[in-house]
Parts: sequence; C-alpha cells; structure tokens
Amino acid sequence: MTPHASTPTAVDDHTRRRAPRPPRRRLRRLAAGAVLVLGLVVALPSCRAGARWNVLRMTPTTSELDTASLGDEVEEDPMDSVMADPNLVWNCSAEGLDPELVTALRAAAAAWVAENGQPLVINSGARTLRRQAELMADMTQAQLEGMYCRQGYPSYISAILRARRQNRGSLGADGTYAILCERASGYISSHLCGAAVDVSPSGCDVGRLRALLETHGFTTLDERNLGVNCLHATYRDAPRLIVRE
Ligand SMILES: [Zn+2]
Repeated sequence: MTPHASTPTAVDDHTRRRAPRPPRRRLRRLAAGAVLVLGLVVALPSCRAGARWNVLRMTPTTSELDTASLGDEVEEDPMDSVMADPNLVWNCSAEGLDPELVTALRAAAAAWVAENGQPLVINSGARTLRRQAELMADMTQAQLEGMYCRQGYPSYISAILRARRQNRGSLGADGTYAILCERASGYISSHLCGAAVDVSPSGCDVGRLRALLETHGFTTLDERNLGVNCLHATYRDAPRLIVRE
C-alpha cells in the first residue's frame, strides 16, 4: 500500500485492479483451474483404487502382518494329507486318531495297494462315548458280548442287559450312554481313544489283510462272525485312555 492510498490516484488504481482482465490471462487461469479439477477427478479414484490394491498403502494391515509372519512356511494340515492318501478311502473322518496308528495304517495301505492294487477302505475311526452308546444301543446281546466281553464280562454290559430286560427288551442311546458314563472302569472300545479303525473286508482276501495289518502293529477282530461286515483293527502301541464323555 502506498502512502497515497486515499488519493484519487489510489481510487483509480483500485478501479483499475477491478477492471476486466485481458481475455488471454483469464483463459490461462481458467485452463489452470480446469487442469486442477481434472487432476483431482483422476487422482482421487486412483488413490482409492491404489488403496484397494495395496499399491499406495504405507502401513500393512493386521491380515498382511499375519500373512507376512507366516510367509511361505504355512504348514499343511497333516490331516489333509491323510485324507488325501490315494491308498486309503475314508468313509469317516481321520480326526482324533492316534498319530502313530495313522502312520502305521498308511504304511499298511501302501503295502496292500502294492499287493492288490486296491485301496484300504476305512469305515470307522475315533468316536465319542455318545456315538459308542448309539452303536451299542442297536446291538444284540450276542454282538455286545462278542465285542466287549472277550476279556471278562464288564459291569456296564451287565447293566445294559439288565436295563433292557426291565424296559421290555430295549434301551435307547440315552439310557445306554448314561450307563457308559457311570461305569466304574473299562475302556469299552479302543475307538474311543483313537486307537482303532474299522477296515472294510468287502472284496478282500481277509486272511491276507489281517496278516498284513498284524505285521504293521494292529490286532484285528473279524466282526463278520458277529454279523457286522467289519474288520476291527486296534493299534497295539497306542495309549489306552478311559473316555467318559
Ligand atoms: Zn471297531
């Protein structure tokens, strides 16, 4: 501001500043404004897209940190490879089986396939006490005694048969389960602690299959004698646990 701000000259200056600008200068400013707006229109969506594609993000998210920390060393679930073993067909889950049993079973299956070209079919693996009760509720007295009384007569079998007699000959899964839960002792079945599998005997030379399983650490029971189409195979080295639920 000059000392002559209040003079007519200053007024003239002011008036002159407000006067219309030369057209070329206005065009330049308009063009610059348009470029700025255009730049924002282009840049903002691309920033959003960049963020979406992690191009512009400076700090990794939690999931990226997780991935980074795992890197390429993400271990495959060993259960997946067991279920995908071409020498085995699973009609049940392999979940809960003793790891050493699984290793021995895979070795036995590989030997069986090398000998016969057929995979081993597994119909049952680890099971809960409730599932055990469901199966036992449907068994005849002869089946119960044939499967669970080979080494003595457990009190839970006596209790189940007594309860059946008192209940017009049958006892449902709930009643059977209650007796199994309350038992004082007894492993009942090595399936409960993941120490046994049921192998399908269909289409097999069962004598040869039993011999093969025996050499791989299993003790077998041919349940076809009891009217069940099943070759029960207990892995001898798996620890036995009393399962109560
Ligand atoms: Zn079995």
